[in-house]
Amino acid sequence: MLAQRGHRVQLVETAPRLFEHAASYRAGAMIAPYCEAEAAEAVVQQAGLEALRLWQAVLPELAVNGTLVVAAPRDQGELQRFKRLTQGHETLTHKDLQALEPDLAGQFATALFYREEGHLSPGPAMRRLIATFKAHGGEFIERVEADGCNDVLTDGDYILDCRGIFAKKQLPDLRGVRGELVYIRSREVTLRRPVRLLHPRFPLYIVPHGKGTYMVGATMIESEAEGPVTLRSALQLLSAAYAVHPAFAEAEICGFASGVRPAFPDNLPKIIVRGNYIHINGLYRHGFLLAPVLARQVADFIEQGRAVSDPYHWIKYEE
Ligand SMILES: Cc1cc2nc3c(=O)[nH]c(=O)nc-3n(C[C@H](O)[C@H](O)[C@H](O)COP(=O)(O)OP(=O)(O)OC[C@H]3O[C@@H](n4cnc5c(N)ncnc54)[C@H](O)[C@@H]3O)c2cc1C
Repeated sequence: MLAQRGHRVQLVETAPRLFEHAASYRAGAMIAPYCEAEAAEAVVQQAGLEALRLWQAVLPELAVNGTLVVAAPRDQGELQRFKRLTQGHETLTHKDLQALEPDLAGQFATALFYREEGHLSPGPAMRRLIATFKAHGGEFIERVEADGCNDVLTDGDYILDCRGIFAKKQLPDLRGVRGELVYIRSREVTLRRPVRLLHPRFPLYIVPHGKGTYMVGATMIESEAEGPVTLRSALQLLSAAYAVHPAFAEAEICGFASGVRPAFPDNLPKIIVRGNYIHINGLYRHGFLLAPVLARQVADFIEQGRAVSDPYHWIKYEE
């Protein structure tokens, strides 16, 4: 966003292989302001709706096919609870569901449909953002480590630290929330939009990432461990896929993965201004949902200083 506005920007990324350590690369990349409001502060929905518009301007390939929320017959109470806690939905009859997502209609009699929500495939979206950044004159410096104290950048007016969980040393309040997922490929099942399967203990989702591939995610574990997916989590993830459609039993498992969501105690993001060093962090479950709004706010701050408006109260001055 800064490059688009004509600023000179250098982007420093340390990973030996692009996106290797980025939580963003592991995300479902759902832009779901209404569904996320079930367990988030109201401000997340408000900012998420702004973000949807900003994403559409930057990435025209954003799929705005909506989200479907379903529950097994024994968990219909969960569906009613979810409906009460969220806005922006329609309750689908079985006939509506059949017309919208035929492969789900065999398993579920009804669903909630959040028409305005979108989703991305994180890898292609992130590559596209880098290409757009370069097209606006941005300089991408790869395989170089920028450190909170020992920065490679010396001639800039501002340093923007977007290191996620890797900035923990400078942000003692930051914690990790581990998310595990599995990628599968199916020839039998076709879904056009993310499907959230409600469950009292293991609510999970399936996101179509194109060409028959799906990301099934994601666990929420209070841990910063990056290691392999546990057997327990694998069972939960695969059972969720099977519950959404039994033909997923024939799907190929393309791989398991995990990522660590960076979160502050209130699970809301923050823009922490320490002189000309600005931390943008704590995006928790909402990195894709909220990133463009945070980028816009930081760009506005850099251009307007403390006079900038802060409708979501995310800017903290710590000089
Ligand atoms: C399984 C899972 C599913 C998710 N699903 C969704 C979803 O559907 N929708 C949504 O909105 N959010 C989702 N999220 C949350 C989202 O992924 C995170 O909020 C977001 O990725 C955080 O982004 P970030 O840029 O802060 O951190 P990261 O994506 O982790 O990026 C940090 C980057 O900093 C680099 N770095 C680290 N140290 C240095 C250094 N010293 N110098 C240079 N570079 C460095 C790293 O290599 C990395 O590329 C999900 C997260 C997980 C784990």
